[in-house]
Amino acid sequence: MKIERISCRVVDFPLEREFHPAWARGRNQPDLLMVLIEVDTDEGVTGIGAAHAGLEAAVTIERFVAPYFLGQDPMYIERLVPVLRDTEILGAPVYCMEMPLWDIIGKVAGLPVSRLWGGYSDSVTAYCATAEVRSPSQRVEDVKRMLEEGYRAVKFRFHLPDPREDLKVVEAVRAAVGDGIEIMVDANQAGVEPGHGGHHAWGFSAALTVARELERMNVRWLEEPLPRHDYDGLRRLRDRLDTLPLAGGEDNHGLHEFKLLIDRGCYDILQPDALLSEGVGQMRKVAALAETADLEIAPHTWGNGIGLMANLHLAAAIPNCPFLEFPHDPPSGWTAAARDQMLMEPLVINAEGRVRVPDRPGFGLVLDEERIARYTVSTHTVGLDQAAPLPTSSTTRPDSTRTGTTFTA
Ligand SMILES: [Mg+2]
Repeated sequence: MKIERISCRVVDFPLEREFHPAWARGRNQPDLLMVLIEVDTDEGVTGIGAAHAGLEAAVTIERFVAPYFLGQDPMYIERLVPVLRDTEILGAPVYCMEMPLWDIIGKVAGLPVSRLWGGYSDSVTAYCATAEVRSPSQRVEDVKRMLEEGYRAVKFRFHLPDPREDLKVVEAVRAAVGDGIEIMVDANQAGVEPGHGGHHAWGFSAALTVARELERMNVRWLEEPLPRHDYDGLRRLRDRLDTLPLAGGEDNHGLHEFKLLIDRGCYDILQPDALLSEGVGQMRKVAALAETADLEIAPHTWGNGIGLMANLHLAAAIPNCPFLEFPHDPPSGWTAAARDQMLMEPLVINAEGRVRVPDRPGFGLVLDEERIARYTVSTHTVGLDQAAPLPTSSTTRPDSTRTGTTFTA
């Protein structure tokens, strides 16, 4: 089998209502921007994936990945992943390109990817990942609705100038529903989204104060309490806590960085993302490293339903994944329906608050082609018929039409 064509469509879906994610500090996000990736083979099997990104990912795939993937057998993934690691040096991170390859293998094997990997479960408990900062009384109402919908867990964002005000949300929810729901807290302190003022850095002392309060309120985890590369601070914070697990890693990149996080004792729960941090198949290696260190994996997801599907299969295939991140924060424009609007069959939770892995080969994605076509802004396709020699140096930026030469294993 050979990869014959790689197509990237940049799609800009609208959101129906305003959405003010906490990390954007007041800015309205009007859309869901993604890249839909399709890898066609000479045997008629197509693998589907997506980037949680825009034009930069499509251009990176076209220029730095396609020349090395075209003509190759998509079954030999381990031979292809070094291309993705190398790509990050010159282009945008596109670990997401591993997803369509596993989709092809699953379709050829006639198995869902999670079962192809050995399988652990057919469903995973979701936590309702909120995004906006809202008042304690509003969040109490939100949680009551979530409980009716079947959710067993919720994650809140702590972003106010004074974190003692954030704590009031957890206090109010505990007062209203007791331990009837698991609560996670995400401080998003690992990095700062550029271009916006108003980020309130906690520092070690505030992180410890907040963590101790959350510990007292039986919170399931505190996510990203300190900057991503403050390995010593994270370890020191973790050492000072008795029962509250620390989680993080969504924006760390590559196998080696996850090994570093484990070796330095930074987190109890690692949160790689199949579209952002590593290839979805490579994340099994992160999960295995975590398993040997008695740590959990709870994949990060944001962005789009295709990425959520990749993370769902990973989560269902490993023994140490307690929760699946399930982005959904109505009545804002960011809901499960908006997140999955490129799919004919959106992901839903069942009465037990779990998300089932679709019983279809590959990742089981069924695209809403009509809707995708309506909101496609640009298409970038390269195929074997445009074959030309590869550049001779890794610093030579290939022309986008020069593609297709094989490399030897
Ligand atoms: Mg997070």
